[in-house]
Amino acid sequence: MNSSGKDAVLVTGGAGFIGSHACKALKAAGYLPVTFDNITTGWLDAVKFGPLERGDLNDRARLDQVFAQYQPIAVLHFAALSDVGQSMREPGRYWQNNVGGSLNLLEAMVAAGCRNIVFSSTCATYGEQDGVTLDEDCVQKPINAYGASKRAIEDMLANYEASDGIASVIFRYFNVAGADPEAELGEYHQPETHLIPLVLDAITGKRDALTVFGTDYDTPDGTCIRDYVHVSDLVDAHVAGLRWLLDGKGCRVFNLGTGNGFSVREVIDASRIVTNREVPVIEGPRRAGDCTKLISGSIRAETELGWRPERSTIADMIGDAWRWYQVCNYKE
Ligand code: UDP
Repeated sequence: MNSSGKDAVLVTGGAGFIGSHACKALKAAGYLPVTFDNITTGWLDAVKFGPLERGDLNDRARLDQVFAQYQPIAVLHFAALSDVGQSMREPGRYWQNNVGGSLNLLEAMVAAGCRNIVFSSTCATYGEQDGVTLDEDCVQKPINAYGASKRAIEDMLANYEASDGIASVIFRYFNVAGADPEAELGEYHQPETHLIPLVLDAITGKRDALTVFGTDYDTPDGTCIRDYVHVSDLVDAHVAGLRWLLDGKGCRVFNLGTGNGFSVREVIDASRIVTNREVPVIEGPRRAGDCTKLISGSIRAETELGWRPERSTIADMIGDAWRWYQVCNYKE
């Protein structure tokens, strides 16, 4: 416990899309969320629920300072580059930023005696699995550098558990979507690469059209299928994961998805219905690094963490994203 009278939790990437929602959930659960963020892809305006400590994960001295100042009981580690396409063009940035930054963070945790971490991993670590159910035990075979960087960090966490007793909850996210139901926070990347915000850009004329990346996949309508999960549900799982660690339950991996898949075309159709607007669409080639289909096939998070998605219907996710889109005032 620190001078605020609340237990501090260090939130790397707390100014980003998911990290900022996590800060809101942590505050509501009685913790002090301390954002550690270099504000390269995050937004100052998204840090509303606790202090901001600007810094880069590759700056060990800065990390040490922040650990000493707040003595966090745990780390929620969101900070990462997460653009699949970019990871194929510039893999070095993913190894430097995601893997190198996480290594530095773990070293700083060991030095500070902080031994609990909730880590944001991804279904992209599974890769193409043709008919295999994507549960936590399936062999990870990432096909892009983003997924490879996240799998490497998972391996690193296992090593640090053995050497230094670092306990980790690893969440393998499926596709995170939606926005804070109270429209205080939402998804805004610069440049934007994610499907639903890009659909909204096309709807509002901010972009001429949404390009569908590939229409020749082996799926019923030829477009890729993803399992979308609402960001509010996702961050609720993080609070449960934090409690899991604080209860001493130890290392565990959990998928976070709903088990329902939607194709790119289905997301476009649902967006048309929810917003009652046309979506200008053009069909383009496949994007390098995209898997055909990623759907969670596990209920471990439900059975062991007691997590159940409450708001992850496609209509709620697009509706909340659309509400946020219309009030978003993050500075460019
Ligand atoms: N997608 C698309 N057009 C776009 C952006 C994304 O067709 O402009 C597709 C992409 O190929 C993938 C799905 O939408 O099948 C979700 O992509 P996103 O980048 O949102 O998340 P990812 O699955 O890469 O984590």
